[in-house]
Amino acid sequence: MSQGKVYLIGAGPGDPGLVTVRARELIELADVIVYDYLANPQLLDWAKAGSEKMYVGKRSGMHSIPQDEIEEILVDRANKGLQVVRLKGGDPFVFGRGGEEISELQIDKIPFEIVPGVTAALAAAAYAGIPLSHREYSSSITFLTGHENPEKQTLSVDFKQYGKNPGTLCLYMSLGQLPRILNELKAGGMSGEMPVGIIQWATLNRQRSVYGTIDTIIEDAEKSGIGTPAMIIIGEVVAHRSKTEWFEGRPLFGKRIVVTRAREQAGQLSQMLADQGAEVIELPFISVEQHFDPKRLSEVLAGIAVYEWIIFTSANGVKNFFDLFYRAYDDIRCLGPMRIAAVGAATAREIEKHKLKVDLVPQKANADALAQELIENEGVESVQILVVTGNQNREALVQRLESDEGRAIVDTLPVYKTSKNDLAQDPAAERFRQEGADAVLFTSSSTVKSFVDQHAALTLEPDARKPAFGSIGPLTTKTLKEFKLPVAFESTQASLEHFVVETISQLKS
Ligand code: SAH
Repeated sequence: MSQGKVYLIGAGPGDPGLVTVRARELIELADVIVYDYLANPQLLDWAKAGSEKMYVGKRSGMHSIPQDEIEEILVDRANKGLQVVRLKGGDPFVFGRGGEEISELQIDKIPFEIVPGVTAALAAAAYAGIPLSHREYSSSITFLTGHENPEKQTLSVDFKQYGKNPGTLCLYMSLGQLPRILNELKAGGMSGEMPVGIIQWATLNRQRSVYGTIDTIIEDAEKSGIGTPAMIIIGEVVAHRSKTEWFEGRPLFGKRIVVTRAREQAGQLSQMLADQGAEVIELPFISVEQHFDPKRLSEVLAGIAVYEWIIFTSANGVKNFFDLFYRAYDDIRCLGPMRIAAVGAATAREIEKHKLKVDLVPQKANADALAQELIENEGVESVQILVVTGNQNREALVQRLESDEGRAIVDTLPVYKTSKNDLAQDPAAERFRQEGADAVLFTSSSTVKSFVDQHAALTLEPDARKPAFGSIGPLTTKTLKEFKLPVAFESTQASLEHFVVETISQLKS
């Protein structure tokens, strides 16, 4: 049995782009990932198929899992020989109870590694344009916490002492105690004019910030409705923040947009919208799970070298196939000299991650076009072909290859299954119901159908924002109209780029 190990990893402040390269490597390798409220769940998308993911943060209306239970989980999994990633928001050693976790690991003689992360103070300052130190205004930076324990209402720091501090103060976990903290700072000698900034959900597209002074900030914060998690920065440097709002000033900033995750291209659309500043809610109408028949799998893998072609019909098929393949073989050459076909560009990209060239991607990204090109250009008579699929078995593709037209010998290997999600329990859907959105973007008729299908789980609360419905093109618009959904705008051309441009011009108020 291999030696288990625990990796205590800083998940950074929220934006997945702000974790270290080492963090990403380890997430990809992990057998188990134990993560917190502030660790962005998007980081889990990097995990290999089949890894165990455990959420141990707070849930609405419930307390978080007690610290000793978390420590027990880490020890238990490591003792089983597993590679355990413990993901914590920001940096694990900055108000993250990392110290407690490693002392437990030491008692149990479990090997560990610690990967630092971008802590919230640094992230909030950068994304708000506040220089934490400044040659003229601040030569020290202090990290403080309002309380160590959210369940405890006491201040754990004597804030009076910091009233005369001439540098920058960064306050973690302090919003709830802010009136008391400010009183103490003033009692310690701080001027009521001292600038203060509060930044909520720093680095995410739901970031909000509010500025004032020691004397005004409580009222400013209340008016703005800002909430937790928030970083509070106090000091002259706050007044010297950049006038250009490089982050909050982007065209879709402050807009919430819903896309459906039913298709592979959804990831690309989400990314494009997020780059323009939008907060994107991805509704996962469909979930994908690794699923295979062990007997069939071992037969196919044992005879893998006999196939002349392997066809992948989706990126999910590629991911799950290689996960299973690497469990059986540790040398890519065991794949044999076969040629590789992919049904579309997203599928091909997933294959290329394995440093494998894709020999055939049809002009039109569909299974029929793929069969056609194989039959016409390559000739498949008596050729052994492996088709890697999900639980929708792509019978049409197989039949066509096997028909008199093709006369190929085809084996199918299903490696995953898709099933319909119940959005009633999904956190993204919950956020949509509670808060609504500025727009819902439909990229195909099937996304419209899924949306209508799950209507009950998507009914908005009375004061949620009412979204405008956007359509990528005439076909999707037609479907929206069939379901009597009001179409607010349609992309001038049916491409993701045009759709984003159209969305920006529609939502710009
Ligand atoms: N280990 C974390 C801190 C955990 S304590 C780190 O290094 O950042 C939790 C507090 O961190 C929150 O109450 C808030 O004050 C701050 N925080 C964490 N992420 C934040 C974010 N994205 N924006 C603003 N504050 C954040």
